[in-house]
Amino acid sequence: MSCPPPTSPELHQGGTVAGPVRTCLGCGAKLGKEALVRFAMASGELMIDERARQPGRGVYCCRKMSCFEGLLKQRKKLAWALRCQVRDRKGYDLVDRLGLEALFCRMISVDS
Ligand SMILES: [Zn+2]
Repeated sequence: MSCPPPTSPELHQGGTVAGPVRTCLGCGAKLGKEALVRFAMASGELMIDERARQPGRGVYCCRKMSCFEGLLKQRKKLAWALRCQVRDRKGYDLVDRLGLEALFCRMISVDS
């Protein structure tokens, strides 16, 4: 199997990009939506948006454990990207790290 060389999205005047490209919050890579896992806030908690159907803002992450770790470490970026707090008023973490990690592992392992 041979892969075509990666094509960089072409920026046209007006800022339109060929194809939906999202940025991984973990490593900063710009990739097509299909290559990334979407995270979104649902019921006040950070969730993995498996079908990319959650309304509202989402953040994206490569299908790599290192990027997932990077994403969770960058709470400020996360909060900014989602336009919401990732901690509640008492300082309680709204990110269920272990739950997310388990789901993330499953998602990247089923992906061939
Ligand atoms: Zn990444």
